[in-house]
Amino acid sequence: MERADIGLIGLGTMGAMLALNIAEKGYRIAVWNRTGSVTEKFAATAGELASRIVPTQTLQALVEAIRPPRTIILMVPAGKVVDDQIAALRPLLDRDDLVIDAGNANFHDTDRRAAEAAIKGPRFLGMGVSGGEEGARHGPSIMGGGDKADWDRVKPVLEAISAKYQGIPCATWMGPAGAGHFVKAVHNGVEYADMQMIAEIYGLMRDGLGMGAAAIGDVFAAWNRGPLQSYLVEISAAVARATDGGKPMLDVILDKAGQKGTGRWTVIEAQHLSAPIPVIEAAVMARNVSARLEARQAGQAVFGPAPQALPQGSVTIALLEQAMIAGKILCYAQGFQMLAAASESFGWNLPLPEIAKVWRAGCIIRSSMLNDMSTALAEDPARGLMLAPFFASLLKTATPALRQVVAAGAAHGQPVPALSAGLSWFDMMRTARGTANMIQAQRDFFGAHGFERLDQPGTGLHGPWGAHMV
Ligand code: NDP
Repeated sequence: MERADIGLIGLGTMGAMLALNIAEKGYRIAVWNRTGSVTEKFAATAGELASRIVPTQTLQALVEAIRPPRTIILMVPAGKVVDDQIAALRPLLDRDDLVIDAGNANFHDTDRRAAEAAIKGPRFLGMGVSGGEEGARHGPSIMGGGDKADWDRVKPVLEAISAKYQGIPCATWMGPAGAGHFVKAVHNGVEYADMQMIAEIYGLMRDGLGMGAAAIGDVFAAWNRGPLQSYLVEISAAVARATDGGKPMLDVILDKAGQKGTGRWTVIEAQHLSAPIPVIEAAVMARNVSARLEARQAGQAVFGPAPQALPQGSVTIALLEQAMIAGKILCYAQGFQMLAAASESFGWNLPLPEIAKVWRAGCIIRSSMLNDMSTALAEDPARGLMLAPFFASLLKTATPALRQVVAAGAAHGQPVPALSAGLSWFDMMRTARGTANMIQAQRDFFGAHGFERLDQPGTGLHGPWGAHMV
């Protein structure tokens, strides 16, 4: 039997769709799944693509079905499952065979697996894949990490199956070892933030302006034809317009959001890097708060519900759109600065403009703004998006609206944690003389940590605190 070009393990939501995508692009693919009946069903329902799919029932059969040097994609849950799968494959594979972990691995695990692979084999790539089921089937965004030579070996397949932005494949090698999974984690952090800001705007329209779900859907649909054009705004229009038994679907869904941890990883890594990403942090915090339903119910029983109607005319739809534009730019500015900090700290040389490009299509955060972000980052990657002339100009127009919306939210009990985190960060980043002089004075007072002065050179200077105790 003709050997397969590539193999795939894990025919769940993502793996099955990725396998069909690979077969559709003309590659012969061998597949294996822990539960054998899933493999049989997958092959039996593959239609005209079945002739390029080789179902196998043992790992040995999978390996034998692939032409050496072999490439095997893992699409299984992140964590121990990936380690177990690599351990099970190792004795069956040659040293120059290549295993690709395409799940949502923590980049520290990918770093460790890359180091282990360098000693024990087989070769190893960590690959972030975004786009959900639909993306996996018809074109995801792909962020690779590992040895460039290994990436180049599989690049033709990955570029073929990836999303295309004006014909350009959204599949890029980001750097060594865990770089691809790190970029994917930041993508997911930005995704959390985009979703949270949309949810906050939805809340302002629902509770502040008294709008029904369908009308809110119409607003999102209109925004999707302007500067906010994006997959997440598009699907927010669709979900707001959807009904169930005559009722808006949104009105019957519990306000308790789940998470798989990639947003949390992003926030933890940002702290390690001292990289400020307050909009993403606020979004992760908001998901955690959403999960505490009983505590929120207890809070409402004691204090009454917070959200009140906004005074007539205080917040308009146009103002909300501008606030969302500002919030989005500020959130992405933080995300790219975190990537820059990681790049420097880990010596990765991350290609920031290419990252913006790879996110333009296929992935969950795809949006028209990313094309302009790529251009701005290419002009000067070190400058940051906030200071890029194109985005600085947009921020000058949109931040007054963000301020008005956040102020109205605060005045009328409408929680807007992500939008307000963006605004505070913006205000801090445009304030040359902030308030950390007070922090330094306090630190020196209680711990003799020292400070620098504006009017004298030198570090480690101290204040005359003893003489001023009250
Ligand atoms: P699913 O739960 O749909 O599928 C999981 C697959 O892994 C199944 O084929 C399952 O086999 C297999 N599997 C589970 N446990 C084991 C095990 N112990 N040993 C061997 N195989 C096992 O997951 P998804 O397809 O949604 O996700 C796969 C990966 O892709 C995850 O890392 C996820 O975070 C990531 N991802 C998911 C996205 C999504 O939108 N769903 C988007 C981007 C990335 P079995 O049939 O036997 O249970």
